[in-house]
Amino acid sequence: MNYQRIRRKTTISQIGKLKIGGEAPISVQSMTSCNVKDYSLTVQQIKKLESAGCDLIRIAFPDIESCKMIPLLKKITSMPLMGDIHFDPRIALSAINNGIDGIRINPGNIRKESQWLSVINAAKNNNVMIRFGINSGSIDKTILAKYPEPDYKALIEETENLLEFLEKIDYKNIVISIKSSNVIDTIIANQVIASKCDYPLHLGVTEAGFGRSGVIKSAIGIGTLLFKGIGDTIRVSLSGDPEDEVLAGHDILSSLEIKKRGVNIISCPTCGRCEVDIYKIASEIENKFKKIKKPITIAIMGCVVNGPGEAKSADIGIAFNKKEAMIFKKGEMIKRLNYTDSDYQLVSEIQDILSKTIQKEG
Ligand code: SF4
Repeated sequence: MNYQRIRRKTTISQIGKLKIGGEAPISVQSMTSCNVKDYSLTVQQIKKLESAGCDLIRIAFPDIESCKMIPLLKKITSMPLMGDIHFDPRIALSAINNGIDGIRINPGNIRKESQWLSVINAAKNNNVMIRFGINSGSIDKTILAKYPEPDYKALIEETENLLEFLEKIDYKNIVISIKSSNVIDTIIANQVIASKCDYPLHLGVTEAGFGRSGVIKSAIGIGTLLFKGIGDTIRVSLSGDPEDEVLAGHDILSSLEIKKRGVNIISCPTCGRCEVDIYKIASEIENKFKKIKKPITIAIMGCVVNGPGEAKSADIGIAFNKKEAMIFKKGEMIKRLNYTDSDYQLVSEIQDILSKTIQKEG
């Protein structure tokens, strides 16, 4: 699918070297989860996110003092840094003065226009991108008074007020996000706002949770909007290791064939013909190859009878019977492995063959 054909037309914003919107690839972002004043832990998280394929990293700066970390952090990564600022516009000004590439502010907790204007002027003078993050948890009280809950109608009204304000200022290096922990409210609000402006949109479902349910909520919320051509940068918000957010973000983009990157594992659901532990083998193989950037589809199939045929579209795959594993490429067998050893040895042998094949083709 040529995604650009259905993609919503937007202005182009820029944070560091990364473009957001227009025809720029949809970027995947995440956020560090530690206190930024803990330099070594922050560096460790940034490096891990970078190697997982993160395009943009957000860091919370809770006070003016913490902004002094910005020049140090900019030295250790080429990823653009976005400062997450709440309540106090002086922190945003300090982050800008310390060289941050972008700032995320929540109009819900910096309410005065004069405060916004001082931040916008500083951003303009330093070419800093601003992400305005509308959140269902911090809707203006006068809007909330009209609705029984902070649903999509409240989110839309809050964002319309923001758009009205943005029309009055002469600054376009802006991205807007409209997030709720409710997937449906997130989808509807983004759809409506996408039709009313041409700013790039950052997509995410806020407080999505963790593990399976968090990934599912984000995949449905972000995926539905992307499928409609809406969205220019994404963050899968999960409680847990930020690296999982990046991997899940790339999985969403690969599933929609927007961006082919990394290993796509397909594995059969198994049935009575399967005689090995497919879950274990597939998880170990996925883990081993999760940081490969080259797009490749690997199939892990439970039986040699149907596996190679069912997974014909895979670049490389493996299918099993009781004593034998068959490696196949595009459905054609390339090698048979007899195994009597433990699953672990089998898996490492398979990983070896797959590694060599990936390298050879790479
Ligand atoms: Fe069953 Fe074989 Fe199909 Fe897996 S590949 S679901 S084991 S028939």
